[in-house]
Parts: sequence; C-alpha cells; structure tokens
Amino acid sequence: MSEQTMVTLDAAVIQEFAARLRGELLQPGDGGYDAGRAVYNAMIDRRPALIARCADVADVIAAVNLAREHGLTLAVRGGGHSGPGWGTCDDGLVIDLGRMKGIRVDPDARTVRVEGGCTWGEVDHATHAFGLATPSGFISTTGVGGLTLGGGIGYLARACGLTIDNLLEADVVLADGRLVRANADTHPDLFWALRGGGGNFGVVTSFLFRLHPISTVYGGPMLWPIEQTAEVLKFWHDFILAAPEDINGWFGYATVPPAPPFPEPYHHREMCVITWCYTGPLERAAQRFAPIRAAHPPTIDFAGPIPWPALQSMFDALLPAGLQWYWKADFFHTLSDEAIALHAKYALQLPSALSTMHLYPITGAAQRVGRGDTAFSFRDASFAGVIGGIDPDPANNERLIAWAREYWQALHPHSAGGAYVNMIMDEGQEMVQAAYRDNYARLARVKASYDPTNLFHMNTTRPT
Ligand SMILES: Cc1cc2nc3c(=O)[nH]c(=O)nc-3n(C[C@H](O)[C@H](O)[C@H](O)COP(=O)(O)OP(=O)(O)OC[C@H]3O[C@@H](n4cnc5c(N)ncnc54)[C@H](O)[C@@H]3O)c2cc1C
Repeated sequence: MSEQTMVTLDAAVIQEFAARLRGELLQPGDGGYDAGRAVYNAMIDRRPALIARCADVADVIAAVNLAREHGLTLAVRGGGHSGPGWGTCDDGLVIDLGRMKGIRVDPDARTVRVEGGCTWGEVDHATHAFGLATPSGFISTTGVGGLTLGGGIGYLARACGLTIDNLLEADVVLADGRLVRANADTHPDLFWALRGGGGNFGVVTSFLFRLHPISTVYGGPMLWPIEQTAEVLKFWHDFILAAPEDINGWFGYATVPPAPPFPEPYHHREMCVITWCYTGPLERAAQRFAPIRAAHPPTIDFAGPIPWPALQSMFDALLPAGLQWYWKADFFHTLSDEAIALHAKYALQLPSALSTMHLYPITGAAQRVGRGDTAFSFRDASFAGVIGGIDPDPANNERLIAWAREYWQALHPHSAGGAYVNMIMDEGQEMVQAAYRDNYARLARVKASYDPTNLFHMNTTRPT
C-alpha cells in the first residue's frame, strides 16, 4: 500500500481550508506552532506543514478530505502520548483532536460518551460526580483515543476488563470522509478492529463506554528496597494469579522523589513497588490487605481509601510531558524463577531516576474475552510488561536505550512472544504480526476494506 508524501499545497487551498475550519490552523511561523507540534515524548521532534486543531466532526471531515485529495501524510493526535510519536509527522497534516472535549454521562444507562480529544483525567472527573468509572490506564494525562484503540490496560482490568471490553460504540470519520457509527450491530468488522487495532481505520470522533459503580477504592503504592525485588516479585506474582478479581496491583520500580509525603531517609532510594487497587467493600479492605502486609512488611505503605480520580492521577506529576522516553514491551504467561532473577538483575542497573519496568496483570475479566473476539489478541497472557528508559536529559538517551534493549533481549525468551502495541516504539512488521498473531489477517482485511489507500498509516499497528 502506498504511503503519502508531502505535496506542496497552493496558498489558496490552505486559505480555503483554514476558512472552513471552526477550529484553528497552525503553520510554521505561526504563534503557537511549536507548542502545537510538540508531543509528550520529547525524543520526537517533527515539523508538520499544517496542524488542524479541529473543533468538531465537520473540521475532522474537512481535514481528512484535504489529506486524501492532496496526497498529504496524515497524523491523528488524541492525547499525544504515543511513545514513537504517531500523533505527529514531518511535512504533512496533523489532525489534533485536543479541542474536542465533550463528555456526557448517562447515569441511568451507566454509559459515558467521550469526544476524541479527551484525556482520562477529564473522563474520570465527569464520571466520578456520579460515583461511576470505566477502565483506563495508570496516568490520567493519557489520551482516551490512543489508549482505547490499542486495548487499554489499567487498574480495573481484572475487575471490569480492558478499556475496549467496555467500549460500546465509536463514531468514525473514514478515509473517504464519511462519518459512520461502529458497534456490535453496525459495521461490526470495523468495531472489532477498533478494539485493539489502533488508529488504522479512521478518526474516532467519539467513544461510548460502559460505566461501573466505582468511586472510592482502597489503593496506592507499597514500597520495598530494590534489593528485595526477587522476593517481592515472586510474592506478587503468586498472590495476584490466585487473587479474587476485585483486587489488582501492578509491580514496578521507582526512585523515591525527594519530597513529602515520602519519608526523608528514603529520598532518592531505588525501590520496588506494588501499586494496589481494591474495588470490593471498603470495610473489608484492611482484612484483605493484612496477609499482604504480613507476608512482606512494606518499608513505605501508602495504600488506603482513595477517591478513584486521585488514584488515577497519583503519578501524573512524576511524569510530565517533555521527558525523553524509550520503551520495550512483551506479554507474559507466568514468570519463571529465571525471569524473576533477570528482573532482579536489571532492577539494580536503572539508568536514571525515572527509568522503570512495570508488570500489569491482565487476568480476570480481561482474560474472559476470547482471543478472536476483539483485535487485541493476547487474552491468554497474564501480564503486560513494559521497560521504560525515561529521563529529562537527551544526553542520557543512549544509556536509556541500551539498558531497555538489553533488559528486553534477556527477558524476551521468557515472554509470550508478542507485545502490547501501545507500549512499543516503531519496531517493524514482525513485531506487529507478533502482537496480533492469528487476528492479523482479519485486521488486514478490515484495513483493506475501510482504508484501501492507507491514508491512516501513522500508527504502530498498520497492517500492510
Ligand atoms: C505516561 C504514559 C502512561 C501510559 N500508561 C498507560 C496505561 O496505563 N495503560 C495503557 O494501556 N497504556 C498506557 N500508555 C500507553 C498509551 O496507551 C499509548 O501511548 C496511547 O497511544 C496514547 O494515546 P494518546 O491518544 O494519548 O496518544 P496519541 O499520540 O495522540 O495517539 C496514539 C495513536 O492513536 C491514534 N489516535 C489517537 N486518538 C485517535 C482517535 N480519536 N482516532 C483515531 N486515531 C487516534 C493516533 O493516530 C496514534 O496512532 C501510557 C503512555 C504514557 C506516555
């Protein structure tokens, strides 16, 4: 399939396009262009010719039509959190959905309709007013668009499934400029592909999600010295695989920030962390956590009752936009003693204070969906793992990248053989096929039917 290249546009064509937009058009030299072209990962530095800050569906249709008619490279941006920077491009047109922030909660139907430019923090804010929530991720500044289209792994994966398991329908502007609604009855193939297949099929202008009665949960981090990684990881692995679905917790590493509420003796100390989220009855929480605390008494223990949006945004300030990011990922069925020993080894070699490895459970409700039921294939895996080299200083990039690659190479033979597409860089077709396994062929068929000229090619999962 052909990929678009930059074609120089007539000033009159640009002017006419700008005049049609209710939103705003940015070009090089305009005030706000540099802020407008920046994405979350500061390793990505691209210069689009046009940034259409769309205000509504009509703007999106006009932008898609412009890109198609003039053969422009087209990037679509939701929250801008893509590691490889798929929400921007050199020379072409960026459709920036960041102004499309409409959210409407229906508390009776227990659904929320969310426009394509929202972040998860905005959704949590709106739904929390009704004591309701839908599964998302672990950082509230992440975009609804990209996270959902890749799958969506978060605190509620075990209790309520992945984000896509709670997606009821999506409004999509297709490559030919038509707006369609995809759900289980209308455009079911497209609906199947949107649930894990990435931004390949069109611009999703709104998502409809199912909500759950989740308001105050019992959660937060417990930390242990990093030297205890092997014991704590082994405990967590065995515990979470046997635990009821209302308890979840992801494992990772953290360097303790030098600020309250962290106790001063631990400032700057590298530690391993489990961040918990229990959604069962609060009065039973202390009893449910007693065996955890008894098995491995944490050095620092912040777990307790917490409003859902506060847990969701707890780590936002640690990870602001503008850092250097490089990540590698894999799914895992279980963790062997050998794999745990490798984790313990690389935990002691963190290349920077923000660099980390996370393991997210995807068992329980997420595992009860069949591997062919949505494009997201790894329903048989128990954990999604990501290794992140992260630092503010670009001078450290080589070190971050080398550590992440070496760690991943060592661990990959112990993996399920594929990775979560939302947590990889641009790593080529082999990686994409490994991520989708036997769903890949169907994904390619849906792509050929909805986007035969590959207009939407700026995404990890693009099938060829
Ligand atoms: C700090 C951080 C924390 C994260 N935590 C989690 C987590 O807990 N769980 C998890 O599952 N993932 C997580 N991720 C990964 C995240 O899901 C992906 O980076 C995702 O692609 C981000 O979506 P976005 O809309 O912010 O990104 P963008 O860069 O805007 O978009 C990413 C991709 O999706 C496409 N896209 C976005 N919106 C639309 C739309 N409306 N219509 C069509 N295509 C669209 C873009 O074209 C692009 O290909 C995290 C990422 C970061 C940086």
